[in-house]
Amino acid sequence: MRPAVLNPLFAPLTALSGIGPRLVEPFQRLFDRGDPRVIDVLFHLPYSAIDRRSQPKLKDVVPDTIATLEVVVDKHQGGRGRAPYRILTSDDTGTLEIVYFKFPRERLEKMFPIGETRYVSGKVALYDGRLQITHPDRVVDEKGLTQLAAVEPVYWLTEGLGAGLARRAATLAIAKLPDLPEWLDAAFREQRKFLPFSQALRRMHSPQEPSDEKPESLFRARLAYDELLSHQLALALVRGRMKRDAGRKSQGDGRLREKIEMALPFSLTKEQQKTIHDIISDLASPHRMLRLLQGDVGSGKTVVALMAAANVIEAGRQAAIMAPTEILARQHYERIVPFATVAGIRIGILTGRERGKEREKILEQLKAGDIDLLIGTHAIFQEGVEFHDLALAVVDEQHRFGVHQRLALADKGPAVDLLVMTATPIPRTLVLTFFGDMDVSELRSKPAGRQPIETRTVSLGRLEEVVEAVGRAVQTGARAYWICPLIEESEGVDLAAAEARFAFLKQRFGSRVGLVHGRLKTKERDESMASFARGDIQILVSTTVVEVGVDVPEATIIVIEQAERFGLAQLHQLRGRVGRGTGKSSCLLLYKEPLSEAAKRRLSTLRETEDGFRIAEEDLTLRGEGEVLGTRQSGLPGFKIARHELHGDLIEAARKDAALILRRDPALETERGKALRILLYLFEREEAVRLIEAG
Ligand code: ADP
Ligand code: MG
Repeated sequence: MRPAVLNPLFAPLTALSGIGPRLVEPFQRLFDRGDPRVIDVLFHLPYSAIDRRSQPKLKDVVPDTIATLEVVVDKHQGGRGRAPYRILTSDDTGTLEIVYFKFPRERLEKMFPIGETRYVSGKVALYDGRLQITHPDRVVDEKGLTQLAAVEPVYWLTEGLGAGLARRAATLAIAKLPDLPEWLDAAFREQRKFLPFSQALRRMHSPQEPSDEKPESLFRARLAYDELLSHQLALALVRGRMKRDAGRKSQGDGRLREKIEMALPFSLTKEQQKTIHDIISDLASPHRMLRLLQGDVGSGKTVVALMAAANVIEAGRQAAIMAPTEILARQHYERIVPFATVAGIRIGILTGRERGKEREKILEQLKAGDIDLLIGTHAIFQEGVEFHDLALAVVDEQHRFGVHQRLALADKGPAVDLLVMTATPIPRTLVLTFFGDMDVSELRSKPAGRQPIETRTVSLGRLEEVVEAVGRAVQTGARAYWICPLIEESEGVDLAAAEARFAFLKQRFGSRVGLVHGRLKTKERDESMASFARGDIQILVSTTVVEVGVDVPEATIIVIEQAERFGLAQLHQLRGRVGRGTGKSSCLLLYKEPLSEAAKRRLSTLRETEDGFRIAEEDLTLRGEGEVLGTRQSGLPGFKIARHELHGDLIEAARKDAALILRRDPALETERGKALRILLYLFEREEAVRLIEAG
């Protein structure tokens, strides 16, 4: 049972006063879970800070810096038509124009009463010799000034989640954070100059210096170490347990595999054949299989999973394939159905969407052994899902699942063999640390017939040319993804929202254009995806929901807007949506000038290579720039805080620490052991605690 002291942290987000059910939705998207909790907000660390401490007189303002300015409101100049709304203000040394676009006039009149003093904070620009702030981040009066954070944390955001809400949620969540007993060795903590866990976490959310949020911050390092230690402890416990249970042999006769292979529209590559062969001999051996299949996007992992499943089904047992999202699960299902039908494999799907009678029926069939292959999301390993005889569990895009989820699935049958697949290439040096004693297979080459993707970088200034080029291609039947990032950096800054781009393209190309984004209902999203797959829609405007695994081989163009703001790994994943069929594909990376050095390097790496392993390595060296979009994609797979390039030295320390701890206190019963149990629960490695308790 989770220690009671942690309960407030695992309460739903709505337990925070002021966060109602309506406000929860963007957090669901941000954390990719239906039930965001207080802890998720706490572990969503700021990546940077805005320093509002500078309060110069207007004559001393340095253009293009953030300042908090004390001004008197002199005059309003209401915008007519499309003209912006201007508020003229001054102090005794100069004047400042505050500019708003499309902002309700009544609100501005309330915010800036003529003759009164206001403190406005934001980036100050110099236009034609005049100081301006466009959409200031903050406008407060004297009283508000006392509450204005001088150093303000900056969070990754998402559609519907503005900076204000993110900060508010963090402040409320921090108030729930208790002090926890120390689980680190005192000497080690001192040597590293680590603060206690709760203090470090509080400091991250209410920084005192902008440098508190730096990638190399000591506060962040403390939290990263805790995360790494919990992981290493869990891994060591799981390893101990896995070694204890023997495996079971599942040896098929090849009859289903043969039918599937005959039905495939292509022949398997050498690497695919070898991988399938390795898996089949693992399955046939009396040892439990723990195999990691790494293969770049589009390298053809799905068919390998299918063949592995077919093998155990031939042996009269069951297999399950688990995908991280509903879209992916359905896609696997739809793609596998035709082959399953040919081979006579009984296949079922189970996601959060199957409910009531439908779900019951699936569960019954599963238990009776009337389903051979179950495909689904994490709904597969919920309680109440019982298999007749599960032999093989395949976990796709493994980095999204934690150790404990893997365990839960492997627990659905005696000595279930496990195949985890990932498209995020993990440098070999890291594999062992992260997955423990796993065998590794790699699909390094792309299936034959693939043509290289032509990757070009184009300045946003040439948008019109890009639109025309896409238009021409669409005329000849091509299909294109158009990706828009949707992360707001600071309140009031307008971004090319997917909806605006959709409207723009729709004007040009009419009903050929579709839209998917995270705010759509699953059903609408699936419908759009499906009509893109059928070709009814030829241009699919999308946020990054298409990022992982979506497969429409006919799509040959991908346009990525604001490419400079994405991380390498994510760009690579996105690009991998094309180049999947035999058609010649292209990827257009639209960027906004000026480019930082790091962004230049990212874009040129992408232009130069399609080798996911090279990109992964380059990515590790380039990260930590703190300017890249996306949370889950950066950092170590499956980790919220720890990052390889920053905390690499801590990984080894944590591994040794964990080994030593378990040698001295295998059941975690000492004072420190009890604190370590709290740590395991805190980072949701509680399955590991269960292992200790089961003895
Ligand atoms: P990923 O490794 O990203 O999961 P998929 O399994 O989705 O890749 O495969 C990508 C595409 O390549 C699919 O359309 C699949 O049918 C196709 N494919 C897989 N193996 C081969 C092959 N040996 N020859 C040609 N196409 C293949
Ligand atoms: Mg895949």
